This record gives sequence, structure tokens and C-alpha cells, in this order.
Amino acid sequence: MDRGQPHTVALRPLPTTPSPTPTTRLAPSPTGALHLGNARTFLVTWALARQQNMRIVLRIEDLDTPRVKPGVLDLTIDLLTWLGIDWDTGPIIQSHDLRHHHAAMQHLVANRHAFPDTRTRRELEALASPQSAPNEGSHELVFPASLRPATLPTTFTDDAPAWRFITPAEPIPFHDEFAGPQTTHPAQTIGDFIIWTRRDAATPGQPAYQLAVVVDDFRQAITHVIRGDDLIESTGRQLLLARALGHTTQPTYLHLPLIRGSDGRRLAKRHGDTRLDTYRDRGVSAERVIGLVAYWSGITPSRSAMSAADFRSALQLSTIPKGPITFTAEDDAWLLARS
Ligand code: GLU
Repeated sequence: MDRGQPHTVALRPLPTTPSPTPTTRLAPSPTGALHLGNARTFLVTWALARQQNMRIVLRIEDLDTPRVKPGVLDLTIDLLTWLGIDWDTGPIIQSHDLRHHHAAMQHLVANRHAFPDTRTRRELEALASPQSAPNEGSHELVFPASLRPATLPTTFTDDAPAWRFITPAEPIPFHDEFAGPQTTHPAQTIGDFIIWTRRDAATPGQPAYQLAVVVDDFRQAITHVIRGDDLIESTGRQLLLARALGHTTQPTYLHLPLIRGSDGRRLAKRHGDTRLDTYRDRGVSAERVIGLVAYWSGITPSRSAMSAADFRSALQLSTIPKGPITFTAEDDAWLLARS
């Protein structure tokens, strides 16, 4: 038996088998209140889903973050409803049932796709070669294959600060319904990435985002993943995980260009308070927010208030601009003008 060697992962493209019930998900992380960028992602996802008679799952992604703020869950649901967005299943709170994530870890470890890592970040940084510098905008290091342990355990025990996935050194292609054909290179851009973390000995571990999203998308029978293109690079990792978990199908992917500030960076606090609840508190109607999203999505040539129902029928993928969308001072002034 080839102890210490991961099983070879079959790398032929996965067949896309349409599910009897096309299903998508809204997957907010309750780390802060929804902002205009979230409004765009969720309105577009909702409108496309309703146009195509998809089932919509609301999944609250409260794992893998130390920043879940109390009250934000209720506020998130309240704001989605305010925008006129509805869903068919949920809210499903990701952290409430981790049995499937544990089972997935058992499967991955039993099949030699993962290993525990006890190094601190500082130790890893010291070992990292020049090409293993942190990705721009990412907090993860590129973990090289040379740092894998010589022997791999065959059972999963939740007693290491991190477990990493053994990333095969092949490009991972996929088709994006909006952005077209894509090729990601997880082995080069991230290496062996973290799939399970444990903060300290007193706290049980939990799945990292990449594992949680794959396990949940499959168990919730998600056929369409619609999200911001900050996650396009993660798709390759998620396809590898899905395959290693024995799945033979993959969802349809659609990544939307992010809303950015005028400095070109993703919308954040530095661009002002773009939170939906702040606008709402200042008297801005949902129809104005939807009108701005409609303008950003190429539905209208200039900003004008719009109902959720009209947005839903008017949205077309073909009119959404391909490049990033910039949130400007004029957008903010128009929202607040309330005329
Ligand atoms: N929860 C993630 C976010 O708020 C979305 C994850 C996903 O759509 O895969 O950015």
C-alpha cells in the first residue's frame, strides 16, 4: 500500500446533470449588515431564480468567522424582506448542524486527501519560499506540497489547529455562465488549503468556508451558484473538494463582477456607510435601492426608482456590464435625494 501518498484525483471535467428541481441559494455571512454590494448580488440572484422557477434556499453562513455580530442575523433577514426578496427554504443556519461536515472530513481523511497541520502562521511564513508569499488581498499563504507530512493519518480527529486539503497540481477548468470559460490553478494560487480549523483546545473545530460551502451546496441540492466574482478563484478549490468527496455532478456557476469604490477596491467601510439599514434609517426607500441596482445592471439608462417585481421581470444577464461596477458619490447623492 502506498502509505503517505494521496489517492490520485480523477481530473476529467465533471458532467453537469440537471437536477429535477433547479435550486439556488442566498448565502449571506452575518458579519455585518448588508450593504449595497450585497443588495446587488441578492437581487440579481433572486430575480434570475424567480424568472427560471428555481427554488431559493436562504443559508446563513455563520461559520469560519470570529466576527458574527449579535442581531445581524435578524437584520439581514429583515433587509432582504424589505428589498422584496423571498425564498422557499430556510433560513438554514450553517453552524446548527455540523454532522455532514464531520462526515465529509472522515471521508477525505480516509481517502488520503487531507492532513493535520500544527504549524503556526509564523512558522509557515518562515518556511515559505518566495512564490509562497501571501496572495494579494488574501490572508492565506500558498502552502507548498513540499511541506506535506511524510505519512498521512487515515482517521479524522478534531485535535489539530488546522487540516489541509491535498491539492493536486493540475489546472481546474469550469464554465461560468456570466464570465465564460475559466481556468483556475489552486495548486499555484493557494496550494494545500485549510478545510477545518480549531481555534484552541477548549473550542471544537469547525469547517472552513471552502469545505462548508461544498458540503452544504450538495446536501441542499443546489444546482446554481450565483455570487460575487471575488469567489471565482475559490471555485476550483470547491470543484476539487466535491470530486474528492465522490460527487459526480457540479453546480452551474455564475459570478457577478463586484461593486467597487471609486478607488477600484471592493466596497467597504472606507467608501462611506453603504449599509442598507443606514440608508433605510435615513428615509431611502427600497425602490430607490432597487433602482440603483437596476441602473448598475444595465436595465435602465439612468437611475430611477423601481419595484422588486419590475426588477425581476426586467433583469437580463446580457445587459449586466462585464466589468466591475463603481459606486460613485452621485449614486449616494441620488439615493439620499429621495425625490
Ligand atoms: N457567505 C459568502 C459571502 O457572504 C458567500 C459564499 C458563496 O456564495 O459561496 O461572501
